Amino acid sequence: MQALNEKAITIDPVIFPLASENITIDVLRLDKIHPFISGNKWFKLKYYLEEAKAMKAREIISFGGAWSNHIVALAAAGKLLSIKTTGIIRGERPEELSPTLRESATLGMELHFISRGDFKLKKIPEDLQRPGALIIPEGGYGIKGAAGASEILSLVAKENYTYICCAAGTGTMTAGLMNAALPHQSVIAINVLKNEGLEEGARTLIENSSASLVCIHDYHFGGYAKYTAGLISWMNEFYRHTLIPTDFIYTAKLFFAMEDMVRKKFFSEGSRILIIHSGGLQGNASFEKGTLIF
Ligand SMILES: *Cc1c(COP(=O)(O)O)cnc(C)c1O
Repeated sequence: MQALNEKAITIDPVIFPLASENITIDVLRLDKIHPFISGNKWFKLKYYLEEAKAMKAREIISFGGAWSNHIVALAAAGKLLSIKTTGIIRGERPEELSPTLRESATLGMELHFISRGDFKLKKIPEDLQRPGALIIPEGGYGIKGAAGASEILSLVAKENYTYICCAAGTGTMTAGLMNAALPHQSVIAINVLKNEGLEEGARTLIENSSASLVCIHDYHFGGYAKYTAGLISWMNEFYRHTLIPTDFIYTAKLFFAMEDMVRKKFFSEGSRILIIHSGGLQGNASFEKGTLIF
């Protein structure tokens, strides 16, 4: 199993078409850390994993859907740390597992499928109520997840930027970035899952931040894992220009939004923008070969 490599992270400048010369854009490539413990999931899991070690947990249990980057990241982290992991998965067990769940199982995760109703209530099946288990909320949402995510900004000279931009699902990473951001900075969260509770969810985890939070709701393409043929060809085009691969659930929508907002002059002259590439590339495994050029 491939080790985790924070040294592989780079900061890549990008130029969007029609962007003003007075706006600079850097991409923090967290996608390079590891193929499965991708990007922000490593940071969000960090303090949960430390808790698991401290309590000598026999097992870590968490929740997710069939395409959950959080679930496969947890499976990989458990494998690296030799801690048993269990995923409680939304819905009936399908005849064929999604690539994400197949990978999670290969990494040693025990998968339990529960009904959508029970999943909503985060019911832990009786046979999983075992002693010594640490339970991580869905998506790593929580104070510990935000604390880990706040460390993302220690990888860059953060004072150089006026905007920090990220894809947002639960808002945990957004909150972590807000907690680490400086007062003159704005965190722009692109709501990619059409999560109506995004801003409130993020604000619940924000502590003492004087940075500004702006949630943008115009780029979810219909909601979680929804996409258009246009988005897919945009991903290929973006890769051709920048050699930066994106995933269709999170980061393609983030970069698409950035390009569009730059074109529409959302960012004033002199803006220095940092975009967090939060990984998630494994999700593209659900596409037929040849759909993407990377
Ligand atoms: C999970 C995930 C996010 C969203 O993180 P939240 O903390 O839930 O908002 C963004 N990008 C990628 C690639 C992810 O896997």
